[in-house]
Amino acid sequence: MKPITEFYTLLNDTIISKKVVITMHQKPDGDAMGSTLALYHLLVKLGHQVQVISPTNWSSFLDWMPGADLVWDYEKSRMESEACINAAEWIFCLDFNVLYRTKNMEQVLTEAKAVKILIDHHEQPQTEAFDYGISITAKSSTCEMIYDFIIASGHRDLIDPDLASCIYTGLMTDTGSFRFPSTTASVHLAIADLKNLGLNHSLVHEHIYDSNSEERLRFLGNALLKRMEVLYEYNTAIMTIPKSDLLTFHTKTGDTEGLVNYLLSLDGIRFGAIVIDRDEERKWSFRSKGDFDVNLFARKHFNGGGHKNASGGNSPDSLAETVQKFKTVLLDYKSALN
Ligand code: 5GP
Ligand code: MN
Repeated sequence: MKPITEFYTLLNDTIISKKVVITMHQKPDGDAMGSTLALYHLLVKLGHQVQVISPTNWSSFLDWMPGADLVWDYEKSRMESEACINAAEWIFCLDFNVLYRTKNMEQVLTEAKAVKILIDHHEQPQTEAFDYGISITAKSSTCEMIYDFIIASGHRDLIDPDLASCIYTGLMTDTGSFRFPSTTASVHLAIADLKNLGLNHSLVHEHIYDSNSEERLRFLGNALLKRMEVLYEYNTAIMTIPKSDLLTFHTKTGDTEGLVNYLLSLDGIRFGAIVIDRDEERKWSFRSKGDFDVNLFARKHFNGGGHKNASGGNSPDSLAETVQKFKTVLLDYKSALN
């Protein structure tokens, strides 16, 4: 993987319109959707033919984002998406760094002949899969890296309020609204710059955080009341969501997002884990405070990964079995968590 700075030269020397695909991890979150759409707006302004393709669907609370209505869902338009990926000259891969995180798109992406560019902040990138790229785990978000990309490639003048709101979405969601340690001075300076360029940040907060349905709030209340278990000896809290809850409350993609953060809001709790009984797998989300490394934990025990303080994984076992496995492996971490 060549450094992204070499790609700036290619970008700025290209005068003919390129066929470009931008993609992200499955079930895109605010950072994945924000970064791909911000880059989309930039490349369209530079005259390229750009298609954003998501490997799966996404939460409806991201639908307001400028350009979201033009994003293709690979699972819904497989033929068009594959033709588009095969015809692409440049493919940008944002907010993930291993191709399997694009689920069913992995094969077509692997085989695509395009120049592939990685921009991401997760641990352990699959560098051999990309031609150019940048991977900085200290970055708050991929959106911050897209802001850096735009500034460093000399296109600050192309940032308008729409593009700014895309970047702000990922900065806000991936930093837990600017509270995680990854929220550096550079994050705040980038936001100050976006404000000067016309960003309406209050509107973004409203779109993301004040768009609950009644059923989603009741689902949350039920989860806190009935599905949470606090393991005080391990400074750990876990939440187990059975499939029946997803059915009872008619949960939609994204309704479970953020639930895991409630566990860490408990006084003294340093490790929060939520497992959701999805059709094909038991999906884990892990969060920690301080030195406890949930990226390593997810990699070692649940086929996953992510960041030191936020990671995910999965298990093919039943819900009861996967929770039992969690509790068994937790025994080995008692001292690390105290
Ligand atoms: P979330 O819990 O919000 O789904 O994910 C937390 C972080 O871990 C995100 O940065 C996400 O990209 C990463 N992550 C979640 N699941 C997996 C997984 O199965 N494998 C890897 N490598 N990373 C994951
Ligand atoms: Mn991210």
